[in-house]
Amino acid sequence: MMLEYMKTLAPRLLGYKLAIMGLRKYPPHPVVLNFSITNKCQSRCKTCNIWELYQKNPQKEKEELKLWEIQKIFKTEDDMFLLNICGGEPFLRHEDIGDICKYAVRYCNAKAIHSPTNCLAPENIEYGVKDILEKIPSNVKLTIKLSLDGIGKDHDEIRGVEGNFKKVQETHKRLLKLKKDYPNFYLDAGTTVSTMNAHKLPSIISWVHDNMELDNFYHELADTRAELFNVDKDDKDPDDFKSVVQNRGVTPTGDQYWDVAHFLLEEAKKDMQGKRAFSRISQALRVVYYERAAWVQKNQKRKVKCYAAMSNAHLNPWGGLWPCNVQAFRHNLGNIRDFDYNFDKLWKSEGAQKVRQWVNGNHCHCPLVGQAMVDTILDPKEVLRVLYTYFKYK
Ligand code: SF4
Repeated sequence: MMLEYMKTLAPRLLGYKLAIMGLRKYPPHPVVLNFSITNKCQSRCKTCNIWELYQKNPQKEKEELKLWEIQKIFKTEDDMFLLNICGGEPFLRHEDIGDICKYAVRYCNAKAIHSPTNCLAPENIEYGVKDILEKIPSNVKLTIKLSLDGIGKDHDEIRGVEGNFKKVQETHKRLLKLKKDYPNFYLDAGTTVSTMNAHKLPSIISWVHDNMELDNFYHELADTRAELFNVDKDDKDPDDFKSVVQNRGVTPTGDQYWDVAHFLLEEAKKDMQGKRAFSRISQALRVVYYERAAWVQKNQKRKVKCYAAMSNAHLNPWGGLWPCNVQAFRHNLGNIRDFDYNFDKLWKSEGAQKVRQWVNGNHCHCPLVGQAMVDTILDPKEVLRVLYTYFKYK
């Protein structure tokens, strides 16, 4: 399986390398497409302001991409490795999420699909996950990540909805049953580690180990992303959305970040032992990611090149394409609706090239996990560190 993946990935990775070195005009299409299929959300998280968006701008909800538009986009896009579904709460599109995934596989040969869920509508989530599994072939991996930011009332408090924790448990129970029939289905959970729960992380991990059957339990450090509107206001923010933007100060800073990242990487090392190969390689990538993210946050600069707008891109619910969700709204490649839904035309546009030049100018740094994973694979020294970790913690 790994060899099959590398056959797809290797020529593309070479293409990104050549493009970043200026030896090729346009990079190949992204191997990771992050796609916010909706910004609707029933959560009221303290780490994010997306849920306020349509309360304050109800007209924008109607502008989200329809299924027929998504199909047209995927028809013009080359093979991708991972469709990373984002939101909002993706399962508020439970009725067509299966078709979206089907099209990603049919037209773009997606090898893996990932989606988080806030677990607030267990029945609909079960319906949506089952629908995806019915519509994708058994050699395509599906991972669903249950968001879990605390235990009991702590979780409800951070996510802003009473009873959310109980629904995480119910969703877990429902989805666990599907694993028997679908070996390509991986059930994960993940904690967004913020200033509100960093000190409770050991007790969260211990509770999860004792009470939940999972393939992986991941943790992401809460960061400020323009997409989540949890950043400082900026002139480039769209006027409609300015009232939603508010920095809530949730990102652990300096030494706290360093301590949490080191705690997490030790946990990831322990977690790798005895796992299936796919899970173990993911955790080895995580270990290397945590080490680098801690270094980046402490030193406030990049350690490796960033391939955003090349290897990865982020399609928003209204058809806009960003290099990443940290630079959302502030650096746009363009809107696919203005390119007749033709991904290739947008990818090779002047606007896209300008964004790439900006990214390559080292103006920013971040601990963004999805981008960091590909940046790792594209950096030979980081690859050696992943392999070392993979074999050491077997
Ligand atoms: S370094 Fe981070 S914020 Fe900057 S372009 Fe890359 S992914 Fe986006």
